[in-house]
Amino acid sequence: MSTAAPRASAPRPRAYPDPGPFALVAVCRPVRGEFTYAVPDALRTALTPGLRIRVPFGRAISLGFYLGPASDPGPSVKTRPIEKALDLEPALTPDLVELLRFAARHYRAPLGEVMKAALPPGLSQATDARDAKPDAVLWAKVVPGVTPAMITRAPAQHAAFSYLTAVGGEALVDEVEHAMAGAREHLKKLAKRGLVTLEPRTVVRAVAQGLAQGRPEALTEAQAVAVQELERAVSEGQFAPYLLHGVTGSGKTEVYLRAAEHARALGKGTLILVPEIALTPQLVGRFKSRFGDAVAVLHSALKDSERLRHWQALRSGKVSIAVGVRSGVFAPIPNLGLVVVDEEHDPSFKQEEKLRYHARDLAVVRAQRAKATVVLGSATPSLETLLNTRQGKYRLLTLPTRVDDRPMPGVSLVDLRLERPKDPAARDVEPPILSPPLRAAMRETLEKGQQVILFLNRRGHSTYVLCEVCGQSRRCTDCDVCLTHHLGQRALVCHYCGKRSPLPTTCPECDGPLLTLGVGTEKVEEEVGTTFPGARLARLDRDAVTNNERLTELLAAFARREIDVLIGTQMVAKGHDFPGVTLVCVLLADSALALPDFRAAERTFHLLTQVAGRAGRGKEPGRVLVQSYNPLAEAVARSVGHDFEGFSALELARRKALGWPPWSRLAAVRVEGEDPDLTADVARRLGRAMARALPAASLGVRLLGPAPAPIAKVKGKTRWQLVLKAPTHALMLGPLEAAEALLPELPGSVRAVIDVDPGAML
Ligand code: ADP
Ligand code: ZN
Repeated sequence: MSTAAPRASAPRPRAYPDPGPFALVAVCRPVRGEFTYAVPDALRTALTPGLRIRVPFGRAISLGFYLGPASDPGPSVKTRPIEKALDLEPALTPDLVELLRFAARHYRAPLGEVMKAALPPGLSQATDARDAKPDAVLWAKVVPGVTPAMITRAPAQHAAFSYLTAVGGEALVDEVEHAMAGAREHLKKLAKRGLVTLEPRTVVRAVAQGLAQGRPEALTEAQAVAVQELERAVSEGQFAPYLLHGVTGSGKTEVYLRAAEHARALGKGTLILVPEIALTPQLVGRFKSRFGDAVAVLHSALKDSERLRHWQALRSGKVSIAVGVRSGVFAPIPNLGLVVVDEEHDPSFKQEEKLRYHARDLAVVRAQRAKATVVLGSATPSLETLLNTRQGKYRLLTLPTRVDDRPMPGVSLVDLRLERPKDPAARDVEPPILSPPLRAAMRETLEKGQQVILFLNRRGHSTYVLCEVCGQSRRCTDCDVCLTHHLGQRALVCHYCGKRSPLPTTCPECDGPLLTLGVGTEKVEEEVGTTFPGARLARLDRDAVTNNERLTELLAAFARREIDVLIGTQMVAKGHDFPGVTLVCVLLADSALALPDFRAAERTFHLLTQVAGRAGRGKEPGRVLVQSYNPLAEAVARSVGHDFEGFSALELARRKALGWPPWSRLAAVRVEGEDPDLTADVARRLGRAMARALPAASLGVRLLGPAPAPIAKVKGKTRWQLVLKAPTHALMLGPLEAAEALLPELPGSVRAVIDVDPGAML
C-alpha cells in the first residue's frame, strides 16, 4: 500500500467521505477521549470508519481505529501521522463503531478499552489481520451403530466415547479434553479403531445440540400476530423496538426463529442474546437445527482461536446469525436486521467488572444505530422495559397463553409458619424442609413416573453454623458474611471469597456444641434421599456441576428422564423445557426477599415465576408448590396468582414514591481498600467532590452516601459506596466527572470504580 491510486480511477465509489487531512482516532490505551491524527496522502482512500490502524502514541506504537474526519486542530497543535492501515476492510461495522462510542461515553470507560472488548483476541494487537490464523478445529463424531458397550478393556477410551454419546454423538475434541484430561489421545485411538471419526470443521457448532425440535407447521394465533408484525418491521429496515411478553411456555423461541428466518431471507443478519449459553442448550439447539451452520455460537468457554474464527465468519458475512451471551452484543454482523434479547430481565446481562455495561441496553442502542428491529422477550419483563413500553417507546407483543392451550400450572402456597412441629418438645427447631404437603405431592408425582424440580437459592448443606451456648455464628475473617457448611467439601466455605476452613467440633470461643442451621441444596438432597430412597436424584448447582460439559450432560439426562428429582439453585430456573416435569417446588420463597437491594422484590417475583414456569410444559398438567414464611409479601402472593400486571403496578408505584429506577437513573461509585480508615477517607473525599458538583437542588439529583456497602468487607477489603440518583443520565455527568478527576490522585492501595446503571446494590 505505497502510493495511492489516482482518485479518478478508483475501482469503486466510496461509501464514506474522504477523511481530509485530519482523522479522529480511538487509541487502544487506557486513556479517555478521541485523538486527532494527520492522514498521509497514501491512506486517504483507505480509511473507512472502524478500520484498524497503527498510530504512534507517546513513545509507543498502538492499535487504533479510524472513526471519521476531524476538524483542523489549528497550527498550535502538532498532529502526528497515522502510520499504517492494518486491514483492507474495517474490522468494526459502522453501527458497531457508533455503539462503542456510545458505550464509552455512557459507561464512563476509555474508548480504546471498549473497542478492545469488541474484538477477538487475535485482532486486538497492532498486527495485520492477515497474520492471524485460527487453528483448525477438530470434531469427534461417533460412527453410527457403535455403542459404548462395544468398547471393552479400555476404560479411558470407553469414558471418552461415552461422553460423545452423552452429548448427542459429537463434540469438539477440545471440549472432551477439557472435560476429561487425556481424552484427545483416547479419541485418536478410537479413530484408529474406526469407532470414531475425527474431522476438522471450519463451521461453528453449538456446545450442545440439546433436544432439537422440528419446525411446527402452524403458529398459534398470538405467535402469528407477533411474527407478522416483526417480519413487517424487519422488512421496513427502521429502528423498531418491541417487548415480547409471553408467559412461560408460550412459544417465544419460535417467534424469534421465524423473525430470524425472515431476516435471513432478506439477506440481513440476526443477533440473539441469552443470559447463559450452557443453561439454554435448548434455545441454541433449536437455532442450530433450524439454521445449521449459518449460526455462530459465542460463549464464554470458547478458546481464543475459536472466538477469532467465529468473529471472522460473521464479519465476512459467511455466517449471519449469532447466538451469544452478553459480550455477543459486540458481534460483527454486517447488515444487522434483527436483534433478540431473550429473558431480557435477567441480571446477568449486566457485566459487573471492567467495562460495566448492560448488554440488553446496548442491544437496543445497537439496533437503533443499525436501523434494526429489536425484540426484548420475557415472561417477566423488567420494570425498565415495562415502563418504556407503557410510555410508548417500545411496542408490545403478547403471547398470553401456552402453546396448545396447555394450562398454566396451578400454584399453591405452603405457609411454613403453620408447618412447624406441633410438639414444643421437638428438638428440631426448624420446620421440615419437605413439608407434609410437599411430601404428598412428590410421592404422587413420582408414583406416576413424572419428574420433580426442587428449587432453593442456596448452595451447601447448612447456611450457617451457630454455637448453642454463646450464640456466635461462624463468620469469614475476610468478608462480612456467615460461612456455609459444605458437606461435600467437608468444610465451612465463604461464598464471597471462597476461603475454606474445617468445621470445628465445638465452638472455638466457648467450647459449646455447634448447631448447623439453615438449609442449602446439599441438605435437601440428603433429605430427599432418605424420604424417597428409590428416586433418582441429581443436584444442579455450582458445587455439583463445575463445567459446562457436566451441565450439558446433566440437563440431557434429565430430559431423557433418567433423573426423577432435580434439586438446584437458580440454574434450574432458566428457560429449560422439560415436558416430563409436573411438579415444581420453591422450597423457600423468602431467601431473596430480604436482600438490601431495591430490586429484591422484583428479583424474587421473577425467580418464582420462572421456576414455576418449568412445570407442566408437556401433555400432563403441572403444579407448583411455593413454601414461604411471608406468604403475604406481594412478590410471593402475586407470583402464586400469576399476577404479573398486579405485581408490576404495585412495584412501579413503590419505586416511583421512592424515586428508584426505572423512574430515575443511578450511578454508583464503589471504593475498596485494605486499610479501613484510608478507604473511608477516600470515600469521603470523593463524596465532597461529587457534592460540590451537584446541579441545583431543584433538578432533583441526590447523592447517597458515602456509606459502607451492605456487605462491608470482601476478601479483606473494606468497601464503601456512593450512589447518585437522578431524573436523567445527563444530570449525573457533573458529579461523575468530579469523581473521575480525583481517580488519578487516589492512594495506590484504594481502588474506586464507577458503575453506571448498577445491577445490584450489594
Ligand atoms: P417459551 O420460550 O415462551 O417459554 P418455548 O419457545 O420453549 O416457550 O415453547 C414451548 C414449547 O412449545 C416448546 O416445546 C416448543 O417447541 C413448542 N412450540 C412452540 N410453538 C409451537 C407451535 N406453534 N406449535 C406447536 N408447538 C410449539
Ligand atoms: Zn470470605
